[in-house]
Amino acid sequence: MKMTEPKLIVHGGAWNIPDKYDKAHLNGVQAAIEAIYPKLQSGMTALDAVEGAVNMLEEDPTFDSGRGAFLNEIGEIELDAMIMDGQNLDFGAVAAVQNLLNPVSLARKVMENTEHTMLVGKGAMIFAKKMGFKELSPEALLTDRELKFFHKIKNDPSFRSELPFEFNPMDTVGAVAMDEKGNIAAATSTGGTARKLQGRVGDSPIVGGGAYADNQTGAVSATGWGESIMKVVLSKTVCDLFKTNNSLKAAQTGITILKNRVNGMGGVIGINNRGDYAFAYNTPKMAFAFVNEQAAIEAHIKYQF
Ligand code: ASP
Repeated sequence: MKMTEPKLIVHGGAWNIPDKYDKAHLNGVQAAIEAIYPKLQSGMTALDAVEGAVNMLEEDPTFDSGRGAFLNEIGEIELDAMIMDGQNLDFGAVAAVQNLLNPVSLARKVMENTEHTMLVGKGAMIFAKKMGFKELSPEALLTDRELKFFHKIKNDPSFRSELPFEFNPMDTVGAVAMDEKGNIAAATSTGGTARKLQGRVGDSPIVGGGAYADNQTGAVSATGWGESIMKVVLSKTVCDLFKTNNSLKAAQTGITILKNRVNGMGGVIGINNRGDYAFAYNTPKMAFAFVNEQAAIEAHIKYQF
């Protein structure tokens, strides 16, 4: 029986998106909603919906996740992802995995096929093989855009990993869904930050940092400067704020805490347990899309609050 109208919101990163990339970002987030929302309406679970939406964004070279990810300090791609089920707080995460197009699907396998919650690096890759994931060549995930950017910043002594949020590309992806049974889920997937040290793991696969989902409060996916997001456990913080604030106020307060407490930068999307959307960011832009009350898709990159 249908108990609630499903909800779906996705993001494609919060940063200073150059105007020339606006269209690709808007198209990407809109396409994910167009493909997945009808399935949610036909009974797809929130967990399948966030995985499916994030898979699409991982495969779109516009974004810093799966194909199109940043290169680390030695020119390699290392990916992080997590997925969380608000029914029982189960989650799965992977970090520093390589040559996989859909790390969020591996994170789901960790959640459902192991007694653990997080696998990293070599062990995660061995598990991926066991689960039948296709290991791609490193070039398969590489874009010319990121190769050029890597060469540009490689030896620049003034470059800092948080700077791209103000000046350069940054496109972690995420999704939050509520299905017709009222269950909530969240997922986030990223290539991390540009020129990161080998083995650097950001907020995206950290429970409560890059995502959180709890049917009792709501679910959130975060994006932005991971080192700052982790310090304030941003996604869990916003979920807790859902208890006493309307959804938009909770998201805005989370971003204010990020800024005031640790001088952080980023954005969040979410859905509270009543099915209300949440979004906020303090970067110049954040690409996101959702299905509104009139059942129309709204895609935004510079939202007028
Ligand atoms: N939060 C991600 C990280 O720090 C990057 C991003 O959101 O674009 O790894």
